[in-house]
Amino acid sequence: MRAYFVLPGLIDSHVHFNGTESGKGALLERLSKDTAFFAYQAATLARLTLDAGFTTVRVLGNPAGVTLSLRDAIAAGALPGPRILDAGNSIAATGGSGDVTLGVHSALAGHMDQDNLCDGTESCRRAVRLQVRRGVDLIKLKITGGVNSRVATGLGRQMFIDEARAVVETAHLYGKKVAVHAHGADGINLALECGADSIEHGTLLDDQGIELMLRSGAFLVPTLSTATTYVERLANNPGIYTQGVREKMEWRASVTGQALRQAYARGVRIAFGTDAGVSPHGRNAEEFVLMVKYGMTTGDAIKAATLNAAELLGIADEAGSLEPGKRADLIAVSGNPLEDIAVLQHVLLVMKGGRIWKQ
Ligand SMILES: [Zn+2]
Repeated sequence: MRAYFVLPGLIDSHVHFNGTESGKGALLERLSKDTAFFAYQAATLARLTLDAGFTTVRVLGNPAGVTLSLRDAIAAGALPGPRILDAGNSIAATGGSGDVTLGVHSALAGHMDQDNLCDGTESCRRAVRLQVRRGVDLIKLKITGGVNSRVATGLGRQMFIDEARAVVETAHLYGKKVAVHAHGADGINLALECGADSIEHGTLLDDQGIELMLRSGAFLVPTLSTATTYVERLANNPGIYTQGVREKMEWRASVTGQALRQAYARGVRIAFGTDAGVSPHGRNAEEFVLMVKYGMTTGDAIKAATLNAAELLGIADEAGSLEPGKRADLIAVSGNPLEDIAVLQHVLLVMKGGRIWKQ
C-alpha cells in the first residue's frame, strides 16, 4: 500500500439527493413522478457519492421528503451511502426560492407541500418546529432568491429581519444549526446578524459580510461547482429556462470564485460544499480544483472537506481526521493531493465506519 495516499473520508457540506433535471424538466418530473421514484433515485445518488470518497454529507433540502428515511436506512446498514445529516425541507418565504409551487397551476399548487413556507414570526417559528418534529439534524433557510428559481425578483433578500431571526432562534432553541442559502449581500448580512452558522453560495459577499463572519465564526460554503453546471446546461439546452433564469445563470458563472477569493484572503473559515443535484453527483471532487483555482492552497482545500466541514457539521469528535477514537472513515488515492488536487477525483478505496465499501 506504499504507493497510495490515505486521507480522512471527505465531507460535502451541501448536497441534494435529487436528480439534476432543471428548468422545465425539473418541474415536469416533480409533477409526474411518485415519491417512490425519488426514493430510489436518492439511494442511487447516495451510493455514487460514497464511491467518490465522500463518507459524510449534509443534505440541504429535499422537496420529495425522502432523504430523512434514506439517512436512517444507511445508518442501519441497509443501504450503501455516506452518513447523512439532513435538513428536511428548506424553510423559505411564500413565493420565495424554496416555494415548490412556483410556476405550477394554482389548482395543483394547493395539493403540494407548503409546510416549509413561512411569513411572519409565529409562522416562521412553526415552520422550523415542523421540521424538528420530522427529525431533521439541522435547518436550511433560503433567505434570498435562487439562481435556478423561476421568480423574477433577483437574488436579493426575501425575508424581513423578524422572520429570519425567528427561524434561527427557533432552530438554535432545539440545538439545530442553520445553513442559510444567500446570494445577495443584503441577505448574507441579514443571515449573519441573525446568527447563521453557515452561508451557502455567498455570491455577493461584501466587506460587512466578511467582518460579520470573522466575528461570529460562521463558515462560507462556496458551491463553485454550480457554475460549471450552468455553463454546460446553457450550452446543451438553453430553451428549458426562462430568459430571467438564463441571465441569472450566466451572471453566476461569470462571478464564480470572487467571494471565496476575498473571504479566504481575510481568514474566513471555509467548508467544502458542491450543491450536487445542481452540479453532477459523483463529480463532487471537481470542487477542489475550483477552490485551488480561486486562491486556496491544496492543503486548505482538503482541510475544508475534512477538519472544517466536520466542525461545521458538529461532528469533529468523530470525523474529519484520522485519530484514535474517531470513526474509521478514510479514503485512498494514487497520487499526492497536496501536489495535484485533481487526484481526489479518482478515489481507489473508501472505508466508512471501519468497513470497506469500495476497493
Ligand atoms: Zn443547494
